Amino acid sequence: MTKRLTIMGATGSVGRSALSVVRHANDTAADPAFAIEALTANTDCEGLATLAIEYNARRAVIADPAQYATLKERLSGTGIEAMSGSDALADVAQLPVDRVLAAIVGIAGLKSTYAALAAGNSVALANKESMVCAGPLLSALSRKNGAAIVPTDSEHNAIFQVLERPEDVERLILTASGGPFLATPRTKLANVTPDQACAHPNWSMGRKISVDSASFMNKALELIEASYLFDFPEARIDVLVHPQSIIHSLVAYRDGSTLAQLGTPDMQTPIAHALSWPDRRTATNVKRLNLLDISQLSFQAVDDERFPAIRLARQALNVGPSASIMMNCANEVAVAAFLAGQCRFTDISSVVEEALGLDIAQTTGSGEEFSLSDVIALDQEGRHRCHELIEGLNARSRSEAQ
Ligand code: NAD
Ligand code: MG
Repeated sequence: MTKRLTIMGATGSVGRSALSVVRHANDTAADPAFAIEALTANTDCEGLATLAIEYNARRAVIADPAQYATLKERLSGTGIEAMSGSDALADVAQLPVDRVLAAIVGIAGLKSTYAALAAGNSVALANKESMVCAGPLLSALSRKNGAAIVPTDSEHNAIFQVLERPEDVERLILTASGGPFLATPRTKLANVTPDQACAHPNWSMGRKISVDSASFMNKALELIEASYLFDFPEARIDVLVHPQSIIHSLVAYRDGSTLAQLGTPDMQTPIAHALSWPDRRTATNVKRLNLLDISQLSFQAVDDERFPAIRLARQALNVGPSASIMMNCANEVAVAAFLAGQCRFTDISSVVEEALGLDIAQTTGSGEEFSLSDVIALDQEGRHRCHELIEGLNARSRSEAQ
């Protein structure tokens, strides 16, 4: 049976990998494996239109309303409906499909992820920031509406693939590549450039998540994501540095068994699994794993001195959901400032640490009382406070330089 898909964030790294999965599956199966209901993008109107035509989508949504006329013109005569604006993102996420792939970056993906689950659509979740900010809310909605959240982040998808009988599990073990600065001394971290931070050794990804990988903030967000997705306390989730990115994560059971999922580092594999689950696996053309060629897998502990992010995520989880929202928003603001040349790489974790100390990070204990608008309001207020923190940091370094 052909599965209908909507891809939120189709022009990004995950979105394009998903479309490669669709292309290969449709080219190799007797009947089309997937059909596209809707594709969305933020500002890349030309990229969106090209993909919508290539993949025969029914609808294409550009978030930026200023580009509506251009999109409509570009799609005229194709039969593809052009839509725009942030409400349209939530509207298409609600159209009945077999799966919505949430692949927008940042908390900007939250409203459409929420809308999809509220309409009873199951979601392949790559957009970790929505789980970090609204994990209890999204999990409750998924349960209430019988709409599955299928983990698509490679580590969480690995755990999902090998997780059976959660009551038999002792520990979850998230692996981390360590990013481009695994061997960089602390003194040199302050001066690294955005391009150096985005040059990930194993994965090709969008710029925000690439910076997050370099700072270990990606793994910190993933620790929170795993805690909410699998309902595990942080004390039973380990992080293990594994520079080859071959083992994507592990689950340790009470009988001494540890199960892992392995593969070459290519997002097409977890995406293919998440789009087809619980049905037959989709064939992909990713490079097959050859352990003889790889020869050695290595592991090391996280250096909390150089990379405090994991420690901060554990602190946030122990405070409550408001602290996770603050951690995410401080990171989003600081990464945007770093990419724009407005702060140093090492300022990212300083801003997150300071943000976790703010009063608004401490407003909750348990999270299910948060509504969607509460989460969004806290994020907005947090952004305002984090911009002030960055201005404060810059003012301090200017006065030190004088
Ligand atoms: P990306 O920057 O390459 O793509 C982001 C997509 O979201 C684009 O289509 C863009 O148009 C859209 N978008 C951005 N801002 C938007 C906004 N304000 N409103 C609407 N749409 C918006 O990012 P990516 O690397 O593909 O990552 C997407 C998500 O998947 C992130 O949450 C990331 O953490 C997660 N993820 C990515 C990878 C990876 O390999 N890239 C792996 C695991 C998880
Ligand atoms: Mg990941």
